[in-house]
Amino acid sequence: MGSEAEIVKAPAPPRLAGFARRAAGLALDLLYPPLCLHCETAVAAPDALCPRCFSLLRPISAPFCPVLGLPFEVPLGPEARSAEAIADPPPFDRARSAVLYNEVARKLVSRLKYGDRPELARLCARLMHGAGRELWAGDPVLVPVPLHRTRLFERRYNQSAELARALGRLAGLRVEPGLVRRTRPTRRQVGLSADARQRNVAGAFAVPAEAALRLGGRRVVIVDDVVTTGSTVKAVTRALNRAGIGNVDVISFARVVTGADLP
Ligand SMILES: [Zn+2]
Repeated sequence: MGSEAEIVKAPAPPRLAGFARRAAGLALDLLYPPLCLHCETAVAAPDALCPRCFSLLRPISAPFCPVLGLPFEVPLGPEARSAEAIADPPPFDRARSAVLYNEVARKLVSRLKYGDRPELARLCARLMHGAGRELWAGDPVLVPVPLHRTRLFERRYNQSAELARALGRLAGLRVEPGLVRRTRPTRRQVGLSADARQRNVAGAFAVPAEAALRLGGRRVVIVDDVVTTGSTVKAVTRALNRAGIGNVDVISFARVVTGADLP
């Protein structure tokens, strides 16, 4: 920092800059009114759904299984776990999801995956931030489920990493997109049975040996777009465990719940 820095023109005073930004925003809104991210009717604010589309989302709220985050029909008490969590305890501590995977959630996720709409990630992250509120205490690190680099190359876009970045900004949490690597390409999980899904992703992830040191004992929250059987997030958790990271939670935008309003 020498004399050069001093002769750089001073930036506009913050109040004026804020005014200019608001005026520019207003002009843009008149030219391009914000549209519902699902049906594209005009909405009042950007990065939002219209009231009708929003009402079609099915948020997952209490009562739910404290381990898997699966909704319960009726309250069963704070300690009650789902039959799935008892029969097959997952390697992670807690999983939470913002919404049930229904028709609207499916469309949002597919546009998040194949589109180039960063505002969709912001909308999903806002809902995930609320659904995962128990997970943010203690300053955990957000780790997105990685794509294999061949698929990343085809798609140029990892939706889980975009969700993690948007969530990190909202919650003020560190994001470590490179912490988990996919060591081999896996088949798409769509259409595979639960067993086949598990075999497909077993051992497909690796975490560098120095990762635990880098995190200094902090918890990890794995970020994914959709959790179906949970085989992917379980495989990622096991890779973290092998690297000495023992405290792992999971947050996803949508959750497939069998029998509940599936498309
Ligand atoms: Zn709409």
